[in-house]
Amino acid sequence: MIAKDLYSLIVIGGGPAGLFCALRAAGNGQKILLLEKNTSVGRKLLLTGSGQCNITHDGDIRSFLSHYGDNGRFIKPSLLNFQNRDLVSFFSERELPVVTESGKVFPVSRKAINILDILVKECSAGKVEIRCGDPVLDVSTREGGFLIRTGRETFRVDHVVIATGGITYPVTGSTGDGLSFAKSLGHRVTEVGPALTAVAIQDYPFSTLSGISFTDVIISLIQAGRKVRQHTGDLLFTHSGLSGPGILDFSRYIRPGDTLRISFLPGVDHPQAKEILIARINAAGNRQVKKILAAFDLPDRFVRKLLDLAGIKQDQTGAQLSREARSALLDLLTGCPFIVSRLGGIHEAMVTRGGVSLDEINPKTMESRLVPGLFFVGEVLDIDGDTGGYNLQAAFSTGALAAKRIAEPLC
Ligand SMILES: Cc1cc2nc3c(=O)[nH]c(=O)nc-3n(C[C@H](O)[C@H](O)[C@H](O)COP(=O)(O)OP(=O)(O)OC[C@H]3O[C@@H](n4cnc5c(N)ncnc54)[C@H](O)[C@@H]3O)c2cc1C
Repeated sequence: MIAKDLYSLIVIGGGPAGLFCALRAAGNGQKILLLEKNTSVGRKLLLTGSGQCNITHDGDIRSFLSHYGDNGRFIKPSLLNFQNRDLVSFFSERELPVVTESGKVFPVSRKAINILDILVKECSAGKVEIRCGDPVLDVSTREGGFLIRTGRETFRVDHVVIATGGITYPVTGSTGDGLSFAKSLGHRVTEVGPALTAVAIQDYPFSTLSGISFTDVIISLIQAGRKVRQHTGDLLFTHSGLSGPGILDFSRYIRPGDTLRISFLPGVDHPQAKEILIARINAAGNRQVKKILAAFDLPDRFVRKLLDLAGIKQDQTGAQLSREARSALLDLLTGCPFIVSRLGGIHEAMVTRGGVSLDEINPKTMESRLVPGLFFVGEVLDIDGDTGGYNLQAAFSTGALAAKRIAEPLC
């Protein structure tokens, strides 16, 4: 039997995007049902920031736009409509002040559960009905509205928000269901994969240096022999490859088989590095190469490893350095090649790249351009942010914008 028009809106998915959309759309006589497949809402939210929940980033909201890969333009209206400072006010007004550390904004309590509790409480205050443990199996169009079928019931409703998240950390419930619903409703879904993840490197030479980090290295991405992108950020050696914010943020573009060339000398290109090295050798040729390299302020263990890789003896002096060895060393310093064997899988990656194609969604409302009354918010969309709170801000801002549009005609 079909439960007809009991609700004015059904939100599918009880993550931050779905909960926030529901609570913002509530009021004015709206009857809202939120359907969550897990036995409780916000499972992924509880893991964020290692349980401390980095809700957003500090600074002017316009500075956010460069933190969503190539899709900053799409998310601009959402971010301007509901900004980072609005999010901070929302929680502060509900007695959850925030603290900022290196630009990252956290609740002072450092507890994701406090964020979740407020979202659930506000849903309850707005009389949003939350049903857990009943996954939505199918969404279809019917009589100018939608049929939503769960394991137990079928609902007919005029407005639907799909807030089912991406495909990573599937243990939290984000298993890509919304992408199937989108496809069945005629939407295009771009290729999905892991993002915000470390990369494993083929024949990785630095496993013994795991834990060493570098500030602001320059990472070039080489695909099919051609440099396609460049990124600057902090790098961390792991036991099997590369991580750190610079790699995590760049990982949305990286595929297995790609080569990363890393310059460990930010602001110094190959010819400049050569000039510096030759000048130092000329000034003190009897010094050991590793001492001459101190000019570049690199960790000692790393320098020793570079010498091994360049075939230079640890006690070799600058004057003894052959042209070939010098060239090999400079290549490693300014363009050390790393072949990517794999990225962290969907069980490790923090977000999903790809999703519901943005060209079929109105960025000013989050409504489908193909099916009126259908909305997509949060990570189900083909948008992923950098580390630092950009993904939760995207979830809250897209949720708020859809809610605004949904509430408007019914006020
Ligand atoms: C370990 C980890 C740490 C992170 N830390 C941060 C951080 O500190 N800051 C930050 O900005 N971002 C962080 N992120 C990313 C952030 O958590 C996500 O981008 C965000 O949760 C996306 O919100 P969402 O509501 O779109 O989707 P989700 O949070 O994935 O929620 C989707 C919900 O939909 C439900 N659902 C799915 N299918 C169905 C269905 N068929 N029927 C009913 N319900 C369904 C799921 O069970 C889930 O509860 C982190 C992610 C991970 C994995």
